[in-house]
Amino acid sequence: MSEQSQDVTAVKAPEGAEPPSDALVVAENVHKNFGRLEVLKGIDLEVERGEVMCIVGPSGSGKSTFLRCINHLEKLTAGRLWVNGELMGYRQKRGRLYELRDSEIAAQRSDIGMVFQRFNLFPHLSALGNITEAPMQVKRMPRAEATAKAMELLERVGLPDKADAYPEQLSGGQQQRVAIARALAMEPSLMLFDEPTSALDPELVGEVLDVMRDLAEGGMTMVIVTHEMGFAREVGDSLVFMDDGMVVESGVPSQVLSDPQHERTQAFLSKVL
Ligand code: ADP
Ligand code: MG
Repeated sequence: MSEQSQDVTAVKAPEGAEPPSDALVVAENVHKNFGRLEVLKGIDLEVERGEVMCIVGPSGSGKSTFLRCINHLEKLTAGRLWVNGELMGYRQKRGRLYELRDSEIAAQRSDIGMVFQRFNLFPHLSALGNITEAPMQVKRMPRAEATAKAMELLERVGLPDKADAYPEQLSGGQQQRVAIARALAMEPSLMLFDEPTSALDPELVGEVLDVMRDLAEGGMTMVIVTHEMGFAREVGDSLVFMDDGMVVESGVPSQVLSDPQHERTQAFLSKVL
């Protein structure tokens, strides 16, 4: 049987598969185009294990696209991206790089949790059902074990009494906390959040941020696109300001927020702070 049968599609060889550092996430010169639209214009950054990175920037600057590139929901136009030492979208075999199929990318991505702005729970499943679904389907975890774990997670996000509730019976804040529990059920090494509180009524924002703060204190590596500057300052280890598909400025949140160096960062912060 040839190497190219079965589990491989195309053979492609970007410059190599070895990550340039042992950071959990390494983005190297990441470009993404949609047709002629150049959305990401060369992003370089690293997220260390246990780091909480907050990404801020104007609407349309490419923040969501970059998050989606991290877990390979979007294929890069150019550049390379590693998560946990793995070059996303590729597999190395006998010294050669093979481009993964969609189903294989899904397996590579199962180590990464993602929480979106819109609560995207399965409407026909209870909170418990939402949380046990992936461990049972993807990891083949027995129901009893998945259920016990889901109950622990519901406890952790402050919803021990909502196991049987359906999404429509939950507030936005509660749905978002279930979404976080659902992502955690896969025991990810990285959690991505795309404006997790932007669609919430103001009085519900705090309960979701509290869960995220707990996660951060527990040592989870997190990349969070957010407009919550107070949270970024308090919980973030680093703050990245993106504009027009590029990282304009980054650093310790309190420093970037109080003393932005770049004119574009200053203009953005003067509008949101
Ligand atoms: P942000 O999250 O910072 O608001 P996005 O990453 O959502 O920015 O979008 C950046 C740009 O890419 C926008 O101009 C948007 O319209 C465009 N874009 C995003 N996704 C797609 C897509 N699937 N097809 C075409 N254009 C897209
Ligand atoms: Mg966005």
